[in-house]
Amino acid sequence: ATPAATMVGTSIGAQNGVLFKGGDILERVRDVDTVVFDKTGTLTEGEMSLTDVVALGPATDGGALDPSADGDTPDPAPDGGALREVDDGETDDDGEDASADADVEADAETTVLRLAAAVEQNSEHPLARAVVDGAAARGIDVPDAMDFENVPGHGVRATVGGDTVLVGNRRLLEDAGIDPAPAEETMHRLEEEGKTAMLVGRIPGGSETEASDATGGAGDGTDETSAAGEVIGVVADADTIKETSAAAVSALRERGIDVRMITGDNERTARAVAEQVGIDPDNVRAEVLPDGKADAVEAIQEDGSKAMMVGDGVNDAPALAAAFVGTALGSGTDVAIEAADVTLMRDDPTDVVKAIRVSDGTLAKIK
Ligand code: ADP
Ligand code: MG
Repeated sequence: ATPAATMVGTSIGAQNGVLFKGGDILERVRDVDTVVFDKTGTLTEGEMSLTDVVALGPATDGGALDPSADGDTPDPAPDGGALREVDDGETDDDGEDASADADVEADAETTVLRLAAAVEQNSEHPLARAVVDGAAARGIDVPDAMDFENVPGHGVRATVGGDTVLVGNRRLLEDAGIDPAPAEETMHRLEEEGKTAMLVGRIPGGSETEASDATGGAGDGTDETSAAGEVIGVVADADTIKETSAAAVSALRERGIDVRMITGDNERTARAVAEQVGIDPDNVRAEVLPDGKADAVEAIQEDGSKAMMVGDGVNDAPALAAAFVGTALGSGTDVAIEAADVTLMRDDPTDVVKAIRVSDGTLAKIK
């Protein structure tokens, strides 16, 4: 293109909220044959809210249940989503301890959310903020946590009332020696709804006797000092898919562009979201670790594909740099915008199509 045409294109782009970092970028975009979207904050609004809190019965109810359990790993009934009493049987002498099942269930859920929020209040992650806000909205008093630790791509952990509490994905719990299986059915159901479900695990604290944790609540069944950790519940956050995401995907596909998605979220949630926006589930790479997105883009480009990566987060920056064209959302993090070649000021996925049309001149013709 002539310098004049490039200037016109750049300016038409700018009028449409599509900022090209230079004339050479404008020309590059024309050759894009693959568009890779980040999920959270790019195809979705990135504004999570807490939707579900599920309490799972403890594996060993104060040691009283499950006489059949052989050895150290008691086998909780695999009734995933079912709520079970969390009370340890020896009443906490506050006489009015709930006896009605409904109350016990509500208590158990409150305990799960209280512990999850206690850990998450130390995290900046959008998933975390939704949990903390959800606890506040339900009037739950959230205790302090100590020794907070972020495990990138997997979750968070901290000490609450003497116990170690973990909130995150299956890997996070497995790595801590906790079997997430009792929560599998619940996780499965929530993920199929496109929600991000997080396991809440607890490892009873060392030898603190009567660590009747600062969280209050009716006995929480952790008196057994030697007990192994277990999954006590699940919390789930949901995000809203952007109104224009599906239109963007279909317009790109109509142009013959291969549309893909990369996310750190789990496979099932990712596929549910992909399906809703019209991306082929086989084109989804899920459970990509924060520092693995660039590798994922390189893998896509290995066959000579020219990929435009579209993202917003700190995690996306290396992938934006690795892509043939990196495109950041205007509301994205500074790091992402810096690493990108194109910025979409309106955060609208359909502006990816505009960027391509400006580049190949079809938008100019329409104007
Ligand atoms: P994304 O690409 O969606 O931003 P991340 O790499 O940040 O994903 O996180 C991947 C997964 O790790 C999340 O889907 C969640 O299961 C878990 N995770 C990360 N941070 C947290 C957190 N603060 N609390 C709970 N789970 C978390
Ligand atoms: Mg994102």
